[in-house]
Amino acid sequence: MTQSTDLLGRPARNRRAGAGIEGMAEAGLARSERLTALREGRLAVIHSWELVTAVDGPGTRLTIFFAGCPLRCVYCHNPDTMEMRRGQDVELAELERLLRRYRRVFAVTGGGITLSGGEVLMQPAVARAVLRTAKELGIHTAIDTSGYLGAVAKDEFLADVDLVLLDVKSGDEATYRALTGRALQPTVDFGDRLARAGIATWVRFVVVPGWTDAVENVERVADIVERWRDVVERVEVLPFHTMGQDKWDALGMQYRLRDVQPPSAEVVERVREQFRARGLTVR
Ligand code: SF4
Repeated sequence: MTQSTDLLGRPARNRRAGAGIEGMAEAGLARSERLTALREGRLAVIHSWELVTAVDGPGTRLTIFFAGCPLRCVYCHNPDTMEMRRGQDVELAELERLLRRYRRVFAVTGGGITLSGGEVLMQPAVARAVLRTAKELGIHTAIDTSGYLGAVAKDEFLADVDLVLLDVKSGDEATYRALTGRALQPTVDFGDRLARAGIATWVRFVVVPGWTDAVENVERVADIVERWRDVVERVEVLPFHTMGQDKWDALGMQYRLRDVQPPSAEVVERVREQFRARGLTVR
C-alpha cells in the first residue's frame, strides 16, 4: 500500500469507521491444515480492515489489509504489515461475511471493496476468492498494489478487478531499488498488462524529498504512466509524511527518513504539473 492521504493530499488521520481486526473471528487451524487452507484460498492472513470514504477508490470502501509484503519501502507508514507472521488468520467465510454486512453501504455510496496490504498479491488464492464473491454480490472491486507480484495475478483474477490502485514509486531502476529494495520492471510489466486488458487504473506516486522528487525522476515516472494513458483515470500525487515513524521505532526497525521533512506545497504542485503536462488527470 502507499501512504494514506485524503483527496487533498493530507495524511488521513481519522479515516477509520471499522477498526483493526475487530469483529473478525480468528481461525484456529492445525499447522498442516492451515497451510493447505492458505494454498487453496480458504484462509487469509490479515493485518486489519477499515471502512473508509474518499480514499482507496470511489465511494465508501471496505479496505482489507493483507499481511506480508515483498518490498521494504523506506517511507512505509505501516511497517507492521511487511511480515506475514504479524497478521491474523481469518477464514474466507469471515471476509465474505464482512462483504455482505456492508453491501448496502457500497450500493448507496457507489463504493466497494479494496484489497490492500502489505501486498495483496502475496495471497492470490484467497484474494481471488474474495474478488469472485464480491462480483457475485454485485460489489465494485479494487486492488491496491505495488505491482511487483503482478505476474501472479492471472487473467481470471484480473477479470474480477474493476480498478487497480498502482503505486509507481519511482521512475528508474536505481532509485526504485534504493527506495523499495526491489526491481521496478515487474511494476512496469504489470501496468502494461492492465493497459492491454483495459482495466481502470489510478496511479499513485509519493513525493519524498531527496528520494523521488527530482524533476528527471518524475519525468521518468510520467514516461511510464503515459504509456497507460488509455486506462489511467487519475494520478494521485501524495506528499510524503512522517506519521509512520513511531511504528518503525516500536518495531525496532531502522527508519531512514528521520531527517526528511514533507515536501513543500510548491514542489508537490510542480510534480503534479509534470503529470498534467502529459495530459493526465491529477489529484
Ligand atoms: S509496498 Fe509494502 S513496504 Fe512498500 S509502502 Fe506498501 S506495504 Fe509498505
